[in-house]
Amino acid sequence: MLLDLYDRLDAAVWIFDFDYKRYIWANRKTLEITDADSLEELQSRDLSADMSPAVEQRLRQYQQDFCNGDVTFSEIWTLYPKGKPKVLQISMSGVRLADGRMALLCEGREQEEQEPEALRSAEALLHTTVMISQFTRDGKPLYRNTASRAACIGLDTPFVEQFVHPEDYQGIFDRVDDERTLKFVAQVKTNAGPRWHELTVRACHDATSGELAYLVNETDVTELHETKERAKYLASHDTLTGLSNRTYLQERLTQILETANEINRKATLYLLDLDDFKLVNDSLGHAAGDALLQQVAEELKALAGRQDVIARLGGDEFLICHLEKSGEESCDWFGQSLLKAFATPRVIEGKQRSVGLSIGYAHYPDDGQDIDQLMRHADLALYQAKSDAKNKCVRFSERMRRLRDEHRALKKDLDRALRENEFVLFYQPIACTRTDRVVAGEALLRWQHPERGLIGPDDFIHIAEDTGLINNIGAWVAEQVARLQMRLHNLKYAVPLALNVSPKQLSDSSFVTLMQSLPFETGCTPGRISLEITESVILGDIPNARETLATLKKSGYRIVIDDFGTGYSNLAYLHNYPIDGIKIDRMFMEDVASGGEIVKLILSLASALGAGVVAEGVETIEQRSWLSQNGCHRYQGYLYSKPVPEDRFLSMLETQNQIASM
Ligand code: C2E
Ligand code: CA
Ligand code: CA
Repeated sequence: MLLDLYDRLDAAVWIFDFDYKRYIWANRKTLEITDADSLEELQSRDLSADMSPAVEQRLRQYQQDFCNGDVTFSEIWTLYPKGKPKVLQISMSGVRLADGRMALLCEGREQEEQEPEALRSAEALLHTTVMISQFTRDGKPLYRNTASRAACIGLDTPFVEQFVHPEDYQGIFDRVDDERTLKFVAQVKTNAGPRWHELTVRACHDATSGELAYLVNETDVTELHETKERAKYLASHDTLTGLSNRTYLQERLTQILETANEINRKATLYLLDLDDFKLVNDSLGHAAGDALLQQVAEELKALAGRQDVIARLGGDEFLICHLEKSGEESCDWFGQSLLKAFATPRVIEGKQRSVGLSIGYAHYPDDGQDIDQLMRHADLALYQAKSDAKNKCVRFSERMRRLRDEHRALKKDLDRALRENEFVLFYQPIACTRTDRVVAGEALLRWQHPERGLIGPDDFIHIAEDTGLINNIGAWVAEQVARLQMRLHNLKYAVPLALNVSPKQLSDSSFVTLMQSLPFETGCTPGRISLEITESVILGDIPNARETLATLKKSGYRIVIDDFGTGYSNLAYLHNYPIDGIKIDRMFMEDVASGGEIVKLILSLASALGAGVVAEGVETIEQRSWLSQNGCHRYQGYLYSKPVPEDRFLSMLETQNQIASM
């Protein structure tokens, strides 16, 4: 009886089985619209056969929505019974079947007079992946299209509750009122977890009530957003350690100094540099070097505070900007705690190694008012810390700036010095421990500065090396020595000479060319000229050092290792180099008073290698006699003579010759 009443309706009413995709029941109007012969015929139709995945998904969404709550949806559908389109305004709700499953109750009215444009837009709204929703002024949802329903965490969820950080979006509709349209990217809670959506919010009117409402368009931009974020991260971080890089640093430092100002605290900028990192890299390989840098980065992260900035500036240089806590004891406690942490040896490639650290720092605002100044000042302090064997954590002071300024002034002066012939060579005699006769001489460079007087090489050689001017200065020295050697030969003084060669010169190809041409240009005898090089050359800092030395040796020059014993090399290593002699560093002369065991060892190893030996820095008669008794026959030092000007050196030789011929 009741069912008969349904047949009298002008609306199509039917119940659809979501799970089996079949009609369960339909009234007469439905049979008419669907062109069915009978209810049985309609029920026998299997709609799953040609149902698109999109429609299937939509149906599943409806089923879920009905299960979640008592809701009604209204949509415009186009059905194609027997291939002819029929447009229906459909109202949908859920009905529970006897077996507990959720089915779809539909009520449809034919819409003959629908404009094609309206139809298409209704279809589009249904199928689009853009999530469209509408909210009341107080944030209650009025409408959600299929895509929005599929994504949202609840059909009733108020607008701001959808965001991962709802607190950030409280007054959002006020802003829409002011600006009409608002477009932004935000992290939104969805039933697939938090996603990034791009939202466009516009003010509109609810079509039924006419009240003010807000229309929201949402698209999922998670992939794009994450790619962008990743690119931003990569551009601002060091890939090896994950610390900020230089690019990002400026921004972070500005923030931390602003914070320091706001809360009236001090900040300290520390620059850190690992000692001998190059050695780890060279001897254990780059992988070990990388592992060490990562380890260091982790340790720095663990030691620094949450607000501190840590960055890798490149190579083995790190920066930490530390916001001082109020009441922190000494001004360098943090630097000291870093040093302490690094004092314990660590395991690299299975071996225990200690990694030294040098730290330079500057306080904000006392030592520098802006980032630039702080960086420059901490850098000066770091330079000091690196060259100081004991104090490895150094605060900037004005004195450093003075030194640096002097350094700069010298740099400028050096250029002129070479042009204006301000360099002079002094010679220090090398004598025999038994006869006390001069057996050789070493050329030592001096700078006759027009204002500062005579300057020793320790004050300017490293600057000349930094600027590359050492190549020109070294060439000048070599030429002078070659000419003097020729003169000594003509004067029949059988005294060989030595000159110092900076490691930098060995990597300069024009140095070898010059040395090869000197015998032709000056008439010197290379066999009577020693080239003194330091151990660092052998340690492997200089590319092609061994080849260069072999070429020089082939040209006839003698190769001598200077300051022997101060570096890391051992005699077994020397064996691979074309060495003619070694000079025992003057620090071992102190050892002589207490038995001289090390010097004895050096002497015996040198004799096994067939290398000649000169003891440097001999200042007392006791040292000389010890050397004589232990088979070291050549010495150099203040005991015999300080370095003297060339003419003085020549007159020493002349006197010696006269005595010999008497
Ligand atoms: P070095 O080659 O080890 O030269 C020996 C230094 O020890 C000289 O200092 C010399 O004056 C000093 N000395 C000699 N005997 C004694 C002594 O008994 N006691 C003490 N305390 N010192 C003594 P100087 O002339 O100041 O040279 C310093 C360094 O500068 C040299 O060390 C050398 O490495 C470098 N140098 C000197 N001339 C040149 C040069 O023409 N080219 C390059 N590249 N370096 C040079
Ligand atoms: Ca020397
Ligand atoms: Ca020396």
